Amino acid sequence: MENFTIQNVLIAVSDDYATVDVQIVDGAIAAIAPNLQVIGTAIDGKNKLLLPGFFNAHTHSSEMWQRGIMSTFPLELWLAELYDFAPLDPEQVYLSALGTAVETLLSGGTSVVDHLVLIPRLELETIAIATRAYREVGIRAFIAPLIQDESLTAGMPSGESTQTHQPYFRSTAATLEIIEEAVRQFHRPDEGVNILVAPTGIQLCTDALFEGCTELSDRYNLCRHSHLLETRAQEKLAQEKYGCTAVEHLKRIGFLSDRTSLAHCVWLNDADIAILSETQSTVVHNPLSNLRLGSGIAPILKYRQAGVNVTFGCDGASSNDSQDLLEAIKMGSILHNVTDSDYQHWITPRQAVEMASLGGAKGLNIADKLGSLTVGKQADLVLYDLTNLSLLPRTDPIGLLVLGRPSNVVDSAWVNGKQIVANGKITTINVDELRQELFNRSQWETKRKSETVAQIETHYRTVMGL
Ligand SMILES: [Zn+2]
Repeated sequence: MENFTIQNVLIAVSDDYATVDVQIVDGAIAAIAPNLQVIGTAIDGKNKLLLPGFFNAHTHSSEMWQRGIMSTFPLELWLAELYDFAPLDPEQVYLSALGTAVETLLSGGTSVVDHLVLIPRLELETIAIATRAYREVGIRAFIAPLIQDESLTAGMPSGESTQTHQPYFRSTAATLEIIEEAVRQFHRPDEGVNILVAPTGIQLCTDALFEGCTELSDRYNLCRHSHLLETRAQEKLAQEKYGCTAVEHLKRIGFLSDRTSLAHCVWLNDADIAILSETQSTVVHNPLSNLRLGSGIAPILKYRQAGVNVTFGCDGASSNDSQDLLEAIKMGSILHNVTDSDYQHWITPRQAVEMASLGGAKGLNIADKLGSLTVGKQADLVLYDLTNLSLLPRTDPIGLLVLGRPSNVVDSAWVNGKQIVANGKITTINVDELRQELFNRSQWETKRKSETVAQIETHYRTVMGL
């Protein structure tokens, strides 16, 4: 591992900035102070801002193949369309994982939580190839294989109708075996690859699947990840299914903990929020996806006031339709200014940066190792070019990074002290080749017809009163 010293770089300190040198030794931050002795390679940090790497704390990499083409639907219909056209070739999974990693890195992220859609009957191959992609790029990967044990139609409330659903094609036990095998083969936290247990959500999972995941999480010390109450339909479904809220139910069956992160959390009541606080669960805010799918505005200011840890995600690239983490952070901050007239509760740019870095680390139970510029922590770092046109003229660098529209501002990035972005370019893979592959394996399209949507749309409209 190469040691290096970043010289004369701007960092944030309390309410101000300081110009310092930062020594990186054996992949960790060894010292932060002005005028340090150069250890290893000297890197010029002049006119650059150094921040801890952000976490893209919820995405689905293979959705990249359908970005820009998905119908303007709410989640339940959107999912039906998504799965009708989901990529079934592991090579596509590989390329979209590379693409997700690259876009995350070039917008300030050094970690990605990929709630990875598994190709049926090629589940371990899907996990293997995504792992390979993330290792090649060098981004820190939290691979959360997306599992369920109920079929798609079970994810909608029944309302007055009595619905029966097809059984899911794979048993709960077989699914849990796949995850356990994935842990054995791929879970290597020291090498930057982590496997999470990640039932997709209460809408498509039985208690047995949640409990099996909790058991694996306890046995192998794995983080837990799930969608939670993304839509009003899921709120209704939880009442039908459990006779209580989804949060009360998840607490009862033991899924919530300080290493549980929950994507969306749009439809929670005050008692639910208190439960997230009490269990120290983390909320992953995906504002662009929530707007795109009309899911609602998550009560993020209430979470913060209740002491619930919140971080940001892009969500999959077909409900966003990009992987620009800075865009998600901006939207996820200012969106809430319309939900609470008391501006003292609004999220400031510095708070947003802390949510995106330390908040992400907390949600993955690694705040002792990552998420801030602290001596002893691992060097997952991003250096921003403050001479970029979109960050000029010189005002408050973090203010403009969060509230502006920064483009091509990442100069360098390191994960565990290894440089993977230099001079604004990914150094570990050939991005021109990736562009060519994405181009060659796709075509310009306009209209597609989803058969599943045609089957379920009438029921959806009835049960949602549309
Ligand atoms: Zn999602």
